[in-house]
Amino acid sequence: MAANKSVLFLPGDGIGAEVAAEVKKVIDWMGDNRALKFDITDGLIGGTAYDETGSPLPRETIDAADAADAVLLGAVGGPKWETLPFEDQPERGLLGIRKEMGLFANLRPALVFDALADASTLKYDVVAGLDIMILRELSSGIYFGEPRGIEDLGDGKRRGYNTLTYTSDEVRRIGEVAFDLAAKRDKRVCSIDKANVLQATVMWREEMIKVGERHPDIELSHMYVDNAAMQLVRNPKQFDVVVTTNMFGDILSDCAAMLTGSLGMLPSASLGEPDESGSRPALYEPVHGSAPDIAGQGIANPLAMILSFSMMLRYSFDLADEANAVDAAVEAVLAKGLRTGDIMEDGKTRVSTEEMGAAVLAELSGAA
Ligand code: NAD
Repeated sequence: MAANKSVLFLPGDGIGAEVAAEVKKVIDWMGDNRALKFDITDGLIGGTAYDETGSPLPRETIDAADAADAVLLGAVGGPKWETLPFEDQPERGLLGIRKEMGLFANLRPALVFDALADASTLKYDVVAGLDIMILRELSSGIYFGEPRGIEDLGDGKRRGYNTLTYTSDEVRRIGEVAFDLAAKRDKRVCSIDKANVLQATVMWREEMIKVGERHPDIELSHMYVDNAAMQLVRNPKQFDVVVTTNMFGDILSDCAAMLTGSLGMLPSASLGEPDESGSRPALYEPVHGSAPDIAGQGIANPLAMILSFSMMLRYSFDLADEANAVDAAVEAVLAKGLRTGDIMEDGKTRVSTEEMGAAVLAELSGAA
């Protein structure tokens, strides 16, 4: 491996720091054993950043993210900061960094490890072997559209409103990511919209069809979001890559998350526009939040964070062999029956955050 890879490390709040400590050991192991050197810089985000600097997203963090090859983030938020003004809340830090880095594509794989298929609330046959990719548009849509607000109508009445907006360019660029992903998978894209009701998504569907015409080897289908929610629960294995708007993706990816048994198992990646050299700004993070209910107890599941690092190896550094090694180590510890509390089942061995991290390292080193 030629140059060192620079990674900005943002543990954040709550269990973020606990799971970050475990992934750091995996990164160090890669550095020691696979001749992949990572230059790690630590930074602040979220409530912890607010406490230290008065901002949930300090300028230094934005600059460090710009300078890094990739960013690895734990989680932000917690009851301590809930009463702060809206713009100071930890979640503003997360939305802010996604915006500053120009991240528009959020990849959320929903993968069911064999050893956990029984843990899903759905029948074994429905989820065993599930491997789908939910691609959520992250930078536009109703979460950012203007006008938005709450207005006073007088007489004690108010009106709240948001705007669902997409440009054709925004749809095309997320569409291209979907087709690129599908090309490396099962060559199927399902675009989710609500074109029977929402004009913005009529345009979404039309633009997606145009993108599809440039990729004749990939099968494109369309589904309304309400049907997609049903199909995800009824027969999730029918999907390969699912591409959808910001809000629909937010909801559907959490639904897909539960197919896999636990939030503590789910990694994600968010990507921006490639530069001239082809490298994209990228932020990797577990799907879960800061889990204030278990923070500080050393019982959080670090696997989503470790799998987020594996996605970094795969998507930012094109290191599929190393990513596969991490995924296989995770699969192996699960197959051996090790479980944090969130995925605990009868007859399995309950382990702490640190023990789970150590078990993954032992698998990687072949010492298990
Ligand atoms: P959460 O994901 O933090 O927790 C939901 C439930 O899942 C909790 O019972 C928690 O204990 C459990 N859980 C989550 N991750 C786990 C793990 N790794 N191991 C074991 N159990 C785990 O969601 P929430 O409770 O809705 O939100 C808590 C805080 O996190 C809020 O402040 C919220 O705004 C924030 N949040 C942040 C992010 C993020 O940083 N990306 C995402 C979601 C929520």
